[in-house]
Amino acid sequence: MTDSGIEQADPEVAQAILKELERQRNTLEMIPSENFTSLAVLEALGTVLTNKYSEGYPGKRYYGGNEFVDRIETVAIERAKKLFGVPHANVQPYSGSPANFAVYTALCKPGDTIMGLNLTDGGHLTHGWKTSATGMFFNSVPYHVRADGYIDLDEVEELATRKRPRMIWVGATAYTREFPFKELARIADGVDAYLVADVSHIAGLIIAGVHASPVPYAHIVMTTTHKTLRGPRGALLLVTDKGLKRDPELADKIDKAVFPGLQGGPHDNNTAAIAVALQEASTPAFKQYGEQTVKNSKALAGSLMTRGLKLVTDGTDNHMILVDLTPLGTGMGMYAQDALELAGIVVNKNTIPKEPASPFYPSGIRLGTPALTTRGMREPEMEMIGAFIASSMDEIRPYTMPMEKEARREAIKKFRSGISQSSKLKEIRAETVELCRRFPLYPELPRA
Ligand SMILES: *Cc1c(COP(=O)(O)O)cnc(C)c1O
Repeated sequence: MTDSGIEQADPEVAQAILKELERQRNTLEMIPSENFTSLAVLEALGTVLTNKYSEGYPGKRYYGGNEFVDRIETVAIERAKKLFGVPHANVQPYSGSPANFAVYTALCKPGDTIMGLNLTDGGHLTHGWKTSATGMFFNSVPYHVRADGYIDLDEVEELATRKRPRMIWVGATAYTREFPFKELARIADGVDAYLVADVSHIAGLIIAGVHASPVPYAHIVMTTTHKTLRGPRGALLLVTDKGLKRDPELADKIDKAVFPGLQGGPHDNNTAAIAVALQEASTPAFKQYGEQTVKNSKALAGSLMTRGLKLVTDGTDNHMILVDLTPLGTGMGMYAQDALELAGIVVNKNTIPKEPASPFYPSGIRLGTPALTTRGMREPEMEMIGAFIASSMDEIRPYTMPMEKEARREAIKKFRSGISQSSKLKEIRAETVELCRRFPLYPELPRA
């Protein structure tokens, strides 16, 4: 065993980590599912807790030596319960996808019917998409958004009444409006289905009070801990009073589904970092953070629309914006993502409602404000960034994205060589670097 630090022990990996830190520092991170944790969270992640096995739950472990791990996990559980106002929390899921699979394991038998928002309408893979295990092992009946981008509640009700699902998911990875928890609960209750809320994207906004909480309406709530919640990668499974009322054993079923149903030993270093993040999330400063994240998102949406860009649902209620690029041509999402990356703005291509192209060459981009807000940016910066994005979109206007494979290959080649010469994008890149410098990220950490 070496006792030197990573720089001596493994310069190759150490260098790449430092480079990644510099990349995060010098670009505008606008992928809505990403964020920057505090130093305290980073510190907890890199601790000796990663050495420990602690299969089981506090007070009921299979291995010895868990006195302090028990203390840490109990603190994390109590903080999660208090913050979300629920009677039961499991903090062990490795991430959001395994947490969702634990929900299926607790509630369903293979082949049971489940409903979730369709992937290309903004839903998550684990809500029943065909290439996900959840679509392979269960009978998935997807619901959709209407042409205006809002969840089609009439369709949900019609499908639920006809298909009698065991459970219904509410939640998404690309949805810019408030989730209709109450309306979906009425539909689920009407057909005796479990309602499971996956609030991965908006958990921080719920805590800050800028999005309604699903807790009064859902039986189970899942959230990742690394998005607006600003913790380490991981997830929480919460059982509500409504859930326990329907099935007093639901908490036990969830715990058993996580371990031993799906997982072995929990990642105790992540559990500690989750505890730290939940502590941070209970402060007035975090409430302000959530409020500012939404204010920034609305300011950015305004800036983009003023400059002629079309947004799905014509705006946003949360931290996220979906730009409909069809006025520039169909399938332009990839060009937009590449052009913005050259300008120092990191977003992702995304499908739009009734996508006219394809999931791999979609017609939109998805962007969000959680990470920029963590850096301290506010409305004036959003106004600037809106102008950067709009100018960058002008640069992709001359190109097209053909549907036919051979023509597409040629078009992409032409785009790549053309766009890399854009002096406008280079100018914007200089401005985004300057903006990043004004809002330093992790100034305490080393420089490359
Ligand atoms: C991010 C996300 C997940 C999955 O989380 P991973 O940690 O990436 O597995 C599940 N559901 C929704 C709605 C998400 O946004």
